[in-house]
Amino acid sequence: MSNNRILITGGAGFIGSHLCKRLLGKGHEVICLDNYFTGSKVNVEALLSNPRFTLVQQDITMPMHFEVDEIYNFACPASPMQYQCNPIKTMKTSVLGAINILEMACNVEARVLHASTSEIYGDPLVHPQTESYWGNVNPIGVRSCYDEGKRCAETLVFDYFRCYNLDSKIIRIFNTYGPHMHPQDGRVVSNFIVQALRGEDITVYGDGTQTRSFCYIDDLIDGILNVMKTEKGFWGPVNLGNPESITIFELAEKIVELTNSTSKLICKPLPQDDPKQRCPDITLAKDKIGWQPRISLDEGLRQTIDYFKKVIRL
Ligand code: NAD
Ligand code: UDP
Repeated sequence: MSNNRILITGGAGFIGSHLCKRLLGKGHEVICLDNYFTGSKVNVEALLSNPRFTLVQQDITMPMHFEVDEIYNFACPASPMQYQCNPIKTMKTSVLGAINILEMACNVEARVLHASTSEIYGDPLVHPQTESYWGNVNPIGVRSCYDEGKRCAETLVFDYFRCYNLDSKIIRIFNTYGPHMHPQDGRVVSNFIVQALRGEDITVYGDGTQTRSFCYIDDLIDGILNVMKTEKGFWGPVNLGNPESITIFELAEKIVELTNSTSKLICKPLPQDDPKQRCPDITLAKDKIGWQPRISLDEGLRQTIDYFKKVIRL
């Protein structure tokens, strides 16, 4: 296997840090670029002594140049709380960031894998969501900075292919969880585990009947690497996520049970435009790259709970 020079934007974040580790483990040279908005050097601390690893502090909204063979574009806050705290910056990260990455990829003839999201389906009217579904997105709501930014980035990836024949791929990631999630980033799995471990009330938004499907990080990384290996001319988009869905109420109960917690479930207002259901149809991923998640929700949650026990103050 030939070793590549690889740029991972958002490499100090939750998913990016796992990607850095996995690609280094395969013998590649990895440049991790991040502005540390939601990520942290701590996530990649164990990699710093590896001579094939380089950490660069940079914002992807600024033009850049790296002589690389492959680019994984993951820079962007993913938690609703984080991406809404500076919505204009979130849009710039998606759109200007994508333009900068795609321009650079054309210049150095790199292959690009762009991290898109199930959010491009909005509050979906088709269930489960197939890649051919165009979505049901509010263009002016509080989630739009992320949803529309990611939709625009997908358009850019395809236009760079159509205009410049850029070798690129898009994945649409559904809710993923695991070690290296930030304990305070506001996402449901990290919130519930931290609350349960501290014996605090578990904050279920709305009546908890909304559904999500949760994919463990190791499964997602397998899928990402397999999509990157597909032949030139296969662009996707490819849904990557766990097709088993669960209500948020059931998730809260499961986490209380797995942590042996005394926490009580309480209801809080449902955030604006919170999707009622979200579940990937992964037929394309199964057929094209032979991928499906293998780690059960209970097993993945146990690993994530062990991680949070080590990193949070109880
Ligand atoms: P994360 O917030 O942990 O990681 C994002 C990383 O990008 C952080 O390290 C952050 O500091 C960095 N970043 C943000 N803006 C930047 C900028 N302008 N310049 C440089 N770096 C910047 O989130 P994550 O869960 O690891 O998500 C990574 C990618 O995957 C994102 O593009 C996200 O949209 C996508 N995604 C994630 C999920 C999920 O469930 N985790 C679901 C769908 C899509
Ligand atoms: N959620 C919740 N309590 C929390 C955090 C989130 O009930 O403390 C709900 C949220 O309203 C949504 C679901 O859990 O219905 C998933 O939220 P998350 O922010 O993790 O991801 P997304 O909404 O982007 O799928």
